[in-house]
Amino acid sequence: MAAIELRGLTKVYPGGVKALDALDLAIPDGEFFALLGPSGCGKTTLLRTIAGLETATGGAVVIGDRDVTGLQPGARDVAMVFQDYALFPHMDVTDNIAYPLRIKKVAKAARHEKAAEVGARLGLDHLMDRRPGQLSGGQQQRVALARVMATQAQAYLFDEPLSNLDARLRLEARTFLKKLQRELGVTTVFVTHDQAEALAMADRMAVMEAGHIRQIGTPSEVFQRPANTFVASFIGSTPMNLLDGVARGDTLEVAGCKIRVPVSAEGRVPDGTAIVYGVRPEYMTYSAEPADGAFGGKVAIVENLGASHLVTLDVGDVIVQAVVPEGSEPAVGDDGYALPRRDRALVYRDGELV
Ligand code: ATP
Repeated sequence: MAAIELRGLTKVYPGGVKALDALDLAIPDGEFFALLGPSGCGKTTLLRTIAGLETATGGAVVIGDRDVTGLQPGARDVAMVFQDYALFPHMDVTDNIAYPLRIKKVAKAARHEKAAEVGARLGLDHLMDRRPGQLSGGQQQRVALARVMATQAQAYLFDEPLSNLDARLRLEARTFLKKLQRELGVTTVFVTHDQAEALAMADRMAVMEAGHIRQIGTPSEVFQRPANTFVASFIGSTPMNLLDGVARGDTLEVAGCKIRVPVSAEGRVPDGTAIVYGVRPEYMTYSAEPADGAFGGKVAIVENLGASHLVTLDVGDVIVQAVVPEGSEPAVGDDGYALPRRDRALVYRDGELV
């Protein structure tokens, strides 16, 4: 087990795409760390560069106390699960899981014992004699995970480890994988484009955009206090309301409404500053009656979220969204008012959190 440190890590692909732009990142020993970001932001490249499957163009990868930047993948002592989890079709589940141990010349009985133990933890015990062709996609993916977890390594690297599981299995695997990682205590970096997965599983996470890390933090830090408008708009099952405004003393003029400066930005937005006011739809109180500091408008859309509804209000020429508990949702065309929670609202200046 070991910490992972990236120092000024840069990757430029032949042809000139800068997939990683001087990244600095320190992942402590034993942490479960998620890399999240839109398609093409560099997540897979980052993971492959840590594994040594891509050569860094600049900077360093340090695992434990070793600078592994110039080392071949096999010499880095990390184990990686790929999106396409290539299993050996002619081997049964036991031999697939035990394969890395065979390469390391572990005796047959010992490696089969290890395969059985890890297989059982992943719910594969009744499938150990089958070949990959006799397994579902989700089962194959669990075999690929088991193969990595049977390997002694200083770090595990997972690229979208749960992508082939159906929604229910995915939820189960999420809980399971987190528990297993905690028990094993192996530093793990996993790539996902599913933010619910990152929020649920990670100790800490990084949100990437175009080769840069835009925020590193615990899931609650990233959700509650996105460091910039990019992260604010990317994170959240319903996007944060981000509204242009201007500071006027201790109030903000936003969408024709006067709103008190949020608690988090009190005394820190000079008069006349152009700002973006951010508040999640979950932190809006919706009412059919006007209230001081509430955005008033016409209900344009009502979407069913299951236990709640997402109400979209046309407020002048912008839209404001609020999550409304089931049973109290309005009808399209109603007049409605959305009152932001002052203790949850945020102010961005030049795109960065004030
Ligand atoms: P996704 O979520 O879609 O898998 P990602 O965040 O993992 O995306 P990467 O696969 O790391 O992104 O790609 C980062 C950038 O590098 C993209 O612009 C991609 O087109 C480019 N890229 C990736 N692999 C190569 C390659 N072998 N040669 C040239 N460019 C590449």
